[in-house]
Amino acid sequence: MSEGASTVPRVQSIMAELSVIQGDITKLNVDAIVNAANSTLLGGGGVDGAIHAAAGPDLLAECRKLDGCPTGEARLTRGYRLPAKHVIHTVGPIWRGGDAKEAQLLANCYRNTLELAAQNDIHSIAFPAISTGVYGYPPEAAAEIALRTTRETTAGLPKIQSVVFVAFQAQAYTILEAALDRTGG
Ligand code: ADP
Repeated sequence: MSEGASTVPRVQSIMAELSVIQGDITKLNVDAIVNAANSTLLGGGGVDGAIHAAAGPDLLAECRKLDGCPTGEARLTRGYRLPAKHVIHTVGPIWRGGDAKEAQLLANCYRNTLELAAQNDIHSIAFPAISTGVYGYPPEAAAEIALRTTRETTAGLPKIQSVVFVAFQAQAYTILEAALDRTGG
């Protein structure tokens, strides 16, 4: 046997594991949960209200210091009383019919959030379905962007090991799961 013939290739492809669950994002024990915030970062309804209620008043106090956040960008805070150590607040676009750069802005939310997470040694992260509540983004189109952008972005961010997409309701779960399958399982 020639020397080196049994050498096992050691090239490893490190890919983040993507999954879909149904539940309340505030209960998840991950490094960071993502808040679908509004541009003031001063709290609101929906998932934003649930995150502030669960994290306690110190979260709002830290948010006040951030001076807001433009649509498509992301800001990091601590998680306070949440099981998650951090919250990444991102501002999704309001759906205006599809010609107001909504798709690009929604993709920016996922990309900027994941990049900010990687810069802060966050390995596991959970997203709500950004913009699909009061902001009115059609959930199928939003799910497609969420999954595609996350796959593309995490391919270049080996620190991100796990990304969970959280559906609050059964219908959102079905939509996100279909997008997960369609974009690569
Ligand atoms: P937006 O203003 O970005 O549309 P919303 O909070 O209104 O944000 O809705 C975003 C998504 O978050 C919706 O699909 C909504 O059902 C979901 N959601 C609301 N509360 C929670 C929660 N506690 N955990 C996970 N998802 C939630």
